[in-house]
Order: sequence, then C-alpha cells, then structure tokens
Amino acid sequence: MRTPIIAGNWKMNNTIKEALELIEEIKSYELNKDVEAIVCVPFTCLSDVKKSLENTEIKLGAQNIHWEENGAFTGEISPKMLNEMGVDYVIIGHSERRQYFNETDETVNKKIKSSLNHGLKPIVCVGETLDERESGIENDIVKKQINKAFEGIEEKDLDNIVIAYEPIWAIGTGKTASASDANNMLGFIRETIGQKYGEKKDHIRIQYGGSVKPSNIKELMDKEEIDGALVGGASLVAKDFVDLINF
Ligand code: PGA
Repeated sequence: MRTPIIAGNWKMNNTIKEALELIEEIKSYELNKDVEAIVCVPFTCLSDVKKSLENTEIKLGAQNIHWEENGAFTGEISPKMLNEMGVDYVIIGHSERRQYFNETDETVNKKIKSSLNHGLKPIVCVGETLDERESGIENDIVKKQINKAFEGIEEKDLDNIVIAYEPIWAIGTGKTASASDANNMLGFIRETIGQKYGEKKDHIRIQYGGSVKPSNIKELMDKEEIDGALVGGASLVAKDFVDLINF
C-alpha cells in the first residue's frame, strides 16, 4: 500500500559540475519504477539538477527551508522560492540542523506547515542521541519530537508528509541500528501518529536513516514498518544509490 521511498541527502557536497556528473551516471542505470527516488541537493544545484532530471522519474528535494514567504531573513530560502524551482520534497529538522543551526521542534513545526502550504512535501527527521538511547529514553524523545512536529497538522496532509527516523549515533558513523531495532522504533512512531490520526497512521511513509548502504538495505526494507531510507554517504556514489533504489 505504501510506495517505497529512497531519498539521497547530499548534505553540503557537490558543486554544480559534480552534481551533474553524478546525476548523469545515475541516469545511465535502469531504476526500479516501483520505488520513489529523490535526490536532496544543495540550493546551488537545484536549478541545474532539475533540468537534468527532466524525463526521469527521480524527484527533486531541498535540504532546508525557511517558513516565511519573504522578508528580512538574510541568507534564508523561502518555500515560495523552492516551489518556483520545481522542488518536490524538502528535508526538515535533520539532526545536523538541530545540532549546529539551532533548529527546534517549534521551527520544525513551522517549516512543515509552510512547506505544505506551498505544495512541498516535507521529510521530517527525528531521532535520539547515543546518550538518550543508552539512558533508555529514546521513545520519549522521539515521541516528543513527533508530537511537536505534527502540532496543528491536519489529517488530510499526512499523505504528503514523510517521516525519517535517524538515530544520531548511526549517522555517518557506519553503525546502523539493527533492522529489528529500526523496525520497532518505526512501529512506535506509527503508533504515536495513530494516537492523533487513527487509521491514517497506516498511510504515512516512514524511512530509516543512518549508515544505510547496499549491503544492509534489503534487510531493512524487508521489515514491515520500514518504507524507505534517507541516505547520506551512499547517495554520493551513483552505483550505490542505484543499488539502494533497486534493492
Ligand atoms: P548517512 O547519513 O547515510 O551518511 O549515515 C544519513 C543522513 O544524515 O541523512
């Protein structure tokens, strides 16, 4: 029922030239059409990557957004601007933004609402730190992040929102949560969504993220609750990214 969704998060990597080379290489492979594939690229590459993705099924994503339409917010990019560029998805609340750029549950919530108002689909990131997991409070942390993120979000919007569970200790470290731990947390997130939206919980797509690579994708995707992956490092290598899409 839920279409699998694999999103590459390039983070602060790739000049326009490098981006176009990577996209060309990805396009040279046959991709599984039953999987929704997205590349979330730096703002500077959006326009060129958009052109390069014409006549493909691959969707375009951004990695951040501001919630206001315009105004005195030096250095920020608005949802209206992203919409004009033909962006489909936007990552919101990635742990690196929470950690280094003061992103809070409150700004995450504003950004989700604003994205939806401008026809952009948010990929909402949640996840606990290593300390939090070791203290056994990971469910409380994630539940709080989810509840705050979805404050004031209407049920009809759930089909346009993707959640990405990314335990911070698994990002870029080579340590993946075990497929069953990831599945348990995604099930818990779905229950949390169910407490607010009832049966609609079965519609929302939830990804796992954190050191996903060709060698572990199959095991993750075989799990009932895991609808896809948000992928950093492995999305920068064309063949790896293609292998993830074609899991
Ligand atoms: P990683 O990053 O795949 O390199 O661990 C995932 C992410 O931060 O989205």
